[in-house]
Amino acid sequence: MNLDPPVLADDYLDVLPARIRARVVADPTGCHLWTGGMSGRTLGAGFAQINGTYEYVHRAVWRLNGRPLAPHQIVVRICRKPRCVRLDHLRATTASAWLLAIRHGLDLAA
Ligand SMILES: [Zn+2]
Repeated sequence: MNLDPPVLADDYLDVLPARIRARVVADPTGCHLWTGGMSGRTLGAGFAQINGTYEYVHRAVWRLNGRPLAPHQIVVRICRKPRCVRLDHLRATTASAWLLAIRHGLDLAA
Protein backbone atom coordinates (compact mmCIF):
# COMPACT_ATOMS: atom_id res chain seq x y z
CA MET A 1 0.00 0.00 0.00
CA ASN A 2 1.40 3.36 -1.08
CA LEU A 3 0.86 6.01 1.58
CA ASP A 4 2.67 8.78 -0.27
CA PRO A 5 0.35 11.65 -1.17
CA PRO A 6 -0.67 11.54 -4.84
CA VAL A 7 1.32 13.88 -7.05
CA LEU A 8 -0.42 16.86 -8.61
CA ALA A 9 -0.11 15.94 -12.27
CA ASP A 10 -1.48 19.07 -13.88
CA ASP A 11 0.25 22.38 -14.38
CA TYR A 12 -2.95 24.42 -14.36
CA LEU A 13 -2.08 25.59 -10.83
CA ASP A 14 0.97 27.44 -12.17
CA VAL A 15 -1.24 30.49 -12.75
CA LEU A 16 -1.67 30.87 -8.99
CA PRO A 17 0.78 32.54 -6.61
CA ALA A 18 3.12 30.01 -4.98
CA ARG A 19 1.63 30.51 -1.49
CA ILE A 20 -1.80 29.57 -2.91
CA ARG A 21 -0.47 26.59 -4.90
CA ALA A 22 1.20 25.28 -1.75
CA ARG A 23 -2.20 24.89 -0.10
CA VAL A 24 -3.60 22.52 -2.75
CA VAL A 25 -3.11 18.79 -2.23
CA ALA A 26 -4.27 15.79 -4.21
CA ASP A 27 -6.62 13.34 -2.55
CA PRO A 28 -6.88 9.61 -3.37
CA THR A 29 -9.98 10.13 -5.52
CA GLY A 30 -8.17 12.50 -7.88
CA CYS A 31 -9.52 15.76 -6.54
CA HIS A 32 -7.14 18.62 -5.79
CA LEU A 33 -8.26 20.04 -2.48
CA TRP A 34 -7.76 23.52 -1.09
CA THR A 35 -6.46 23.25 2.47
CA GLY A 36 -6.62 26.96 3.32
CA GLY A 37 -9.45 29.13 4.55
CA MET A 38 -13.08 28.71 3.55
CA SER A 39 -15.74 31.33 2.95
CA GLY A 40 -18.34 29.70 5.19
CA ARG A 41 -18.60 27.36 8.13
CA THR A 42 -20.32 24.49 6.29
CA LEU A 43 -21.01 24.71 2.54
CA GLY A 44 -18.45 27.37 1.74
CA ALA A 45 -15.71 27.38 -0.83
CA GLY A 46 -11.99 28.01 -0.69
CA PHE A 47 -11.41 31.72 -0.29
CA ALA A 48 -8.11 33.58 -0.42
CA GLN A 49 -6.40 36.78 -1.44
CA ILE A 50 -5.08 36.17 -4.95
CA ASN A 51 -3.16 38.90 -6.77
CA GLY A 52 -4.53 41.50 -4.37
CA THR A 53 -8.20 40.54 -4.44
CA TYR A 54 -10.14 38.15 -2.22
CA GLU A 55 -11.71 35.51 -4.42
CA TYR A 56 -13.01 31.96 -4.42
CA VAL A 57 -10.00 29.78 -5.21
CA HIS A 58 -11.83 27.51 -7.67
CA ARG A 59 -13.16 30.57 -9.50
CA ALA A 60 -9.64 32.04 -9.67
CA VAL A 61 -8.33 28.74 -11.11
CA TRP A 62 -11.04 28.90 -13.78
CA ARG A 63 -10.52 32.58 -14.61
CA LEU A 64 -6.71 32.63 -14.54
CA ASN A 65 -6.61 29.64 -16.89
CA GLY A 66 -8.51 31.70 -19.44
CA ARG A 67 -11.80 29.81 -19.26
CA PRO A 68 -14.86 31.81 -20.30
CA LEU A 69 -17.27 32.99 -17.63
CA ALA A 70 -20.29 35.15 -18.42
CA PRO A 71 -21.42 37.64 -15.76
CA HIS A 72 -24.48 35.53 -14.88
CA GLN A 73 -22.50 32.29 -14.55
CA ILE A 74 -21.00 30.56 -11.56
CA VAL A 75 -18.17 28.05 -11.40
CA VAL A 76 -19.22 24.71 -9.89
CA ARG A 77 -17.42 21.51 -9.00
CA ILE A 78 -18.84 18.44 -10.73
CA CYS A 79 -17.24 16.24 -8.03
CA ARG A 80 -19.31 18.28 -5.52
CA LYS A 81 -16.45 18.64 -3.06
CA PRO A 82 -16.42 22.18 -1.66
CA ARG A 83 -12.61 22.18 -1.37
CA CYS A 84 -11.86 20.87 -4.89
CA VAL A 85 -10.12 23.29 -7.27
CA ARG A 86 -9.06 20.79 -9.96
CA LEU A 87 -9.60 22.52 -13.30
CA ASP A 88 -11.16 19.55 -15.07
CA HIS A 89 -13.62 19.15 -12.19
CA LEU A 90 -14.91 22.69 -12.73
CA ARG A 91 -17.70 23.86 -15.02
CA ALA A 92 -19.28 27.24 -15.72
CA THR A 93 -23.05 27.18 -15.44
CA THR A 94 -25.90 29.21 -14.03
CA ALA A 95 -27.11 28.95 -10.46
CA SER A 96 -30.54 27.79 -11.63
CA ALA A 97 -29.10 25.09 -13.93
CA TRP A 98 -26.85 23.88 -11.13
CA LEU A 99 -29.72 23.67 -8.63
CA LEU A 100 -31.80 21.75 -11.20
CA ALA A 101 -28.89 19.36 -11.81
CA ILE A 102 -28.49 18.70 -8.10
CA ARG A 103 -32.23 18.28 -7.55
CA HIS A 104 -32.61 15.81 -10.42
CA GLY A 105 -29.27 14.06 -10.10
CA LEU A 106 -28.10 15.23 -13.53
CA ASP A 107 -24.47 14.99 -14.52
CA LEU A 108 -22.77 18.19 -15.66
CA ALA A 109 -19.51 16.42 -16.45
CA ALA A 110 -20.13 16.44 -20.22
ZN1 LIG B 1 -12.85 17.28 -7.55
